[in-house]
Amino acid sequence: MELLVEHLGSVGLVDHHVHGWFTEPGDRAAFEEALNEGATGPVSSGFDLPIGVAVRRWCAPLLGLPALTTSDEYWEARSATPYDELVRTFLTAAGVDHWVVDTGLTPGLVTDPEPRSEVIRLELLMEQVLGEDDVVGAFRERLGRAVASGTVGAKTIAAYRCGLEIDWSRPDDADVAARARTASTRVVDPVLVAFGAHEAAALGLPLQVHTGFGDRDLDLSAANPLHLTPLIRTVSSPVLLLHCYPYHRQAGYLAQAFEHVFFDVGLAINHLGARSVQLVAEAMDLAPFGKQLYSSDAYGLPELHFLGSVLWRRAMGEVIGGWVRRGDWSTDDAIRVVDLIGRDNAARVYDL
Ligand SMILES: [Zn+2]
Repeated sequence: MELLVEHLGSVGLVDHHVHGWFTEPGDRAAFEEALNEGATGPVSSGFDLPIGVAVRRWCAPLLGLPALTTSDEYWEARSATPYDELVRTFLTAAGVDHWVVDTGLTPGLVTDPEPRSEVIRLELLMEQVLGEDDVVGAFRERLGRAVASGTVGAKTIAAYRCGLEIDWSRPDDADVAARARTASTRVVDPVLVAFGAHEAAALGLPLQVHTGFGDRDLDLSAANPLHLTPLIRTVSSPVLLLHCYPYHRQAGYLAQAFEHVFFDVGLAINHLGARSVQLVAEAMDLAPFGKQLYSSDAYGLPELHFLGSVLWRRAMGEVIGGWVRRGDWSTDDAIRVVDLIGRDNAARVYDL
């Protein structure tokens, strides 16, 4: 058992879906807003959320404060810490050996972690080629170039644009070209979205798909990964269901049913705070151990790159550590699964 605890505290993770941290430290309002994934604006103080308590619990000691210090004291200590030191503190404490970064979200406002590999956002790529004479050819050319220069995966934010409940059959090039001529600069056309997903799959690129909760411009009922079943049946390259909450059990089923489906419960691990233990337990319901990956989906606040890691390590200790204590699993079983989910599955899927 001590072996497992020790291993969980020291294993270097691969964070398979993450973003950069804000280039500037920002003010308290921006900080608190960044703790609320669902909304921007006056829903509540960011500290008055499960993730806010988790920041006080786990991040405060790294700034020399007692765990669960007040939010005012936390903010004061954070503001008094030079920002580059703050970033270094949290990024180092995350214990992540490699980051797989989605660089497509507010690229000018964030600094990306190192060492990293990158995934390319398909809707952004489509928006970049919309003005070209031959949109289909230009899209293929740029995607091919990205792969040649080392991009390890593609990502679709279909959930934010048209929902996942669309016709996922592969569109023909003429239809794509016609749709592209009338498309708005923000791609929401399901044909263009499906085209991007199939192009990535045709190149054998692992395809990340945002599913489950996110900010409020998505329709959560249309973000259920089960809507992807028709796509999953027609492609053979890896499909990575991102985050999935509250559909993580459905995602676990898909990972069991289809050999090329993988998933994570990132993002929600941070946002559920202390309840992330139950989330991690439920993520272990059905899925084969080789099909789940660790991610933080941290964005903006360097605290979140650390928090995802510490909450996942803690939850795994509680959940599978509990099974070891009760004699349901051996310590060897537990350590092997920690390594698979924490790093080895990602290294294999993305060929890192
Ligand atoms: Zn993300």
